Amino acid sequence: MDPRPHYEAVVFDCDSTLTAIEGIDELCGALPSEQADRVAALTRAAMNGEVPLADVYERRLAIVRPSAEALRVVGQRYVERIVPGAREVVGALRERGVEVGIVSGGLAPAVRVLARELGLADDTVHAVDVCFDEEGQYLDFDRASPLWRNHGKVEVLAALRDRRSPLLFVGDGVTDLEARDVVDRFVGFGGVVAREAVMQGADAFYAGPDLGFVFDLVFGAAATSPRSRPAPPAR
Ligand SMILES: [Mg+2]
Repeated sequence: MDPRPHYEAVVFDCDSTLTAIEGIDELCGALPSEQADRVAALTRAAMNGEVPLADVYERRLAIVRPSAEALRVVGQRYVERIVPGAREVVGALRERGVEVGIVSGGLAPAVRVLARELGLADDTVHAVDVCFDEEGQYLDFDRASPLWRNHGKVEVLAALRDRRSPLLFVGDGVTDLEARDVVDRFVGFGGVVAREAVMQGADAFYAGPDLGFVFDLVFGAAATSPRSRPAPPAR
């Protein structure tokens, strides 16, 4: 029999955590290279915490203007580049009654494709929605969502944790790290990209490449209790 889980809920970031790609970079594939480079540079700056996310979010989408079809294709790429162990861990957690969700600053139509592949219902996906016209052409993104701004994940995760806890959050980025204090434990994942700020600030950091460690954190005998803070990893 499985032991009681140490966490009742596990939330994952999407891009560079559950999947090895950044959706926005993928969308740039169709752009002229100069524009694509500009968007990629904006994304990196935001991810490393050098520029506020909201500053770049609007500028990026104004350049990219993704159609419904383009986002469906990004969703497929998410699935193709799924991080090792993601499918197994999500399945095993759900099978044992642990709630699993995704909180992402990515675009919801694409994130939902990956979520469905992982067996997650659409209402477990918290991401930025997009409005299209009747032909599926881009109109705008959901500006009411908190997730296109810094600290948006803080707001969403605080609400999720109020509903179910203890809650474990796994992510790679600075916007993930921002939510550290509203979750029971924030674990940095470096299996796709290892970011210095996340390595230093997370409650724990796993270099990957596999997400299998999440199962051990939730069910392992050696699982650390929420909020205990191990020494920074040796580098
Ligand atoms: Mg990420």
